[in-house]
Amino acid sequence: MTVVKNILAIHTGGTISMSQNEQGEVVPNSENPIAQQETILEGRVHLVTDEMFNLPSPHMTPVEMLKIKQRIVAAETEGIDGVVITHGTDTLEETAYFLDLTLPSTIPVVVTGAMRSSNEVGTDGLYNFRAAIEVAADDSSRDNGVMVVMNDEIHTARYVTKTHTTNVSTFRTPTFGPIGIVAKGRPAYFQQLIRQANTDIDHVIDHVYLLKAYAGMDATLFDALNTDETKGLVIEGLGAGNLPPITLPALQRLLDRGIPIVLVSRCYNGFAEDIYDYQGGGIELRKMGLMLCQGLNGQKARIKLLVALSAGFTGDRLASFMSTAVS
Ligand code: ASP
Repeated sequence: MTVVKNILAIHTGGTISMSQNEQGEVVPNSENPIAQQETILEGRVHLVTDEMFNLPSPHMTPVEMLKIKQRIVAAETEGIDGVVITHGTDTLEETAYFLDLTLPSTIPVVVTGAMRSSNEVGTDGLYNFRAAIEVAADDSSRDNGVMVVMNDEIHTARYVTKTHTTNVSTFRTPTFGPIGIVAKGRPAYFQQLIRQANTDIDHVIDHVYLLKAYAGMDATLFDALNTDETKGLVIEGLGAGNLPPITLPALQRLLDRGIPIVLVSRCYNGFAEDIYDYQGGGIELRKMGLMLCQGLNGQKARIKLLVALSAGFTGDRLASFMSTAVS
């Protein structure tokens, strides 16, 4: 006998909900076409639809991310077996990772989107939506953390990133690869993520910033952040985690003000480590008090720092939380 799974579909907007007009421009719709797909996988899945937002994902902020988290927590008391979230792809990885960090759930939570809008030739929205539902409804998807399903691949929210502006295979997991694939609708897993404890938060703070290092970077941007408002800073450092020496006094002023600074690498693969012992090298940066965060890209490390500061973490608690991707 087929067990019908209750799947909550939370729609938030993005290209998956948009259409192309006669001029070839991609524009939002007042009615989300993907939210009308209530009979998808009928007989196997009972779809509960919640059109929470209709936002292009550059309009998404941690405030909306927290509302999605709260909706999913409520769903677990409503007999929901799995959750699919449709989302614009530009900031999809940030919302997915925010949920991964903050949700206590063991039920599958899958985020998906589309690279081609709903009426374009070869649109991938409905396909990805169906694949995401298949993954969310499958028992083998439990306890995997929040997942991103796009283009028949299953990625972890923790490590996936958008790598191409338009290609349907844009979502990739550098260094580690996807944890599974979707073959003709059926998920198959071949890697498992090390679990992390969730960090429950009921509000989100603001003024956590992200800067990318470059050859010849000076102190200007760091000094601009030296204000009472600034709560935290993530820097995408050079290579294994190094910075131009001229930035160091400005970094020290930020640290003296009590602003936590997290260092990741701007490289696509690998992670920041304290390897180099020269002025501005990772060893000196660590000794100064920068927290080296392994495995996360800049935008994810920023979400993690924002969640940690929103939870009230300081000092050693903050440092140990930030120092590894798994905590
Ligand atoms: N700019 C769009 C958005 O993020 C891109 C997409 O959805 O793929 O909303």
